[in-house]
Amino acid sequence: MRIGFGYDVHRLKEGRPLILGGVTVPCDVGLDGHSDADVLTHAIIDALLGAAALGDIGQHFPDTDEEWRGADSIELLRVVVSRVEEAGFQVGNVDSVVVLQRPKLRLYIDAMRIQLAVTMGVEIEQVSVKATTSETMGFVGREEGCAAHAVALLVNVSS
Ligand code: MG
Repeated sequence: MRIGFGYDVHRLKEGRPLILGGVTVPCDVGLDGHSDADVLTHAIIDALLGAAALGDIGQHFPDTDEEWRGADSIELLRVVVSRVEEAGFQVGNVDSVVVLQRPKLRLYIDAMRIQLAVTMGVEIEQVSVKATTSETMGFVGREEGCAAHAVALLVNVSS
């Protein structure tokens, strides 16, 4: 078994959608970035790549590449899972935390878990998404940005 860790941050901006784990959360601000800026999915991608020692999201999908402008991060996750599987691994489980001051994400968590599980080809029980605020401290607390942390366990099925 192999464990991997991923972390990502995106800036909050008016006029952008707030997409987390492939789910659009109603909000007056959203996440800014080259892709759809789905910070949760990006952290999970880096956890999966880290567990397989396959580099990071920036190496696989450079933000200097026009091909990835406005990219649907769920599609990037699909590509990463196939690369991880080609390297001989299966996804064991994923756990994650979104750090966001507002809005409350509780109502959207299960939709994120379903979207992520379907994309990775695993059961919903293998995917955990949690949410917390930063108690109004720091860049999250000032509502300047959103952070996400993720860990992933991969099972070596090649031998
Ligand atoms: Mg990112």
